[in-house]
Amino acid sequence: MKSIKRVSALLLIFAIAIVSVFSIQVFASSNTMKVHYIDVGQGDAVLIESNSKYMLIDAGREKNTVADYLKKQKIKKLDYLILTHPDADHIGGSISIVNNYTIGKIIMPNKSHTSKTYENLLLAIKKKGLKITKPKVGTEYEIGDAEFTIIAPNKTYSDNNNSSIGLKLENGDTSFLFVGDAEEKAINDIIKNKIDISADVLMVGHHGSDSSTTEELIDAVDPDSAVISVGKNNYGHPTDSVLDMLSNHGVDIYRTDESRTIIATSNGKSVAIDADIFEHEAIENDSQIVYVTKTGKKYHRENCSALKSKIETTLDDVLSKGLTPCEICNP
Ligand SMILES: [Zn+2]
Ligand SMILES: [Zn+2]
Repeated sequence: MKSIKRVSALLLIFAIAIVSVFSIQVFASSNTMKVHYIDVGQGDAVLIESNSKYMLIDAGREKNTVADYLKKQKIKKLDYLILTHPDADHIGGSISIVNNYTIGKIIMPNKSHTSKTYENLLLAIKKKGLKITKPKVGTEYEIGDAEFTIIAPNKTYSDNNNSSIGLKLENGDTSFLFVGDAEEKAINDIIKNKIDISADVLMVGHHGSDSSTTEELIDAVDPDSAVISVGKNNYGHPTDSVLDMLSNHGVDIYRTDESRTIIATSNGKSVAIDADIFEHEAIENDSQIVYVTKTGKKYHRENCSALKSKIETTLDDVLSKGLTPCEICNP
């Protein structure tokens, strides 16, 4: 009897060992994808990584914020660079990305901008010998173990925002939706196209502006979570009506102005979102450097074109004096 017990105990240990090895292997082969909604203030920049392949959607306004972030992640090559549309809060940081990183494919809409930033971006792309791929709705691309499908733009629009590239990113059973700054007209065309845009995580269009998010879109996407990339702005982003609409649909809302960089991790089955609301907003205000003139009633960024002379001070100081942000540099 004793020896039978011992044998069954041994068998049990073997069984446990085999099961654990098996589950470790299953775990190792499950495809982890990370989506970093990088804090770029008012603007967009999203880094996606799957199986050591990388994609960047937009690059924020500032010259080096995103380039520095990629450097910290020790990234050398971007397999895809997607610039949703040529507005400065999306392409501003892309020139140093193009100059300093190896890029596999760059996808940009057929929409030009008269800005110097856009001109410089085209020059950088040309100098690097890169070809621009135009987005085609329905085209699928692979990124590591994940894949993405272009969902917009569905038409030619006169407006920059409506020309935004939209895409659905999928990793196993999980999915993420991006619509750039597309406004209602272009959003409606995405819905009309009948491509499946349901997703676990919606990146809220146009920094939470009410010109982008509609009830119909939220119904079609039916997300569990929404991420809003937004910073200090004079446009009222994110709009209360959009926040209410999402809350009423039971969607969890994450904001880069509250949590800074937000990282969503997909294991192919579910999505976990890492976003703490920062307590030290006040400390940050204290130390943020802004510039003023002797008599001006506005405060500015260092390189603002409206700044003829400049005195360095802090955001805390100018706010206490009742100064308002310059509309040109929008600090
Ligand atoms: Zn924007
Ligand atoms: Zn825009």
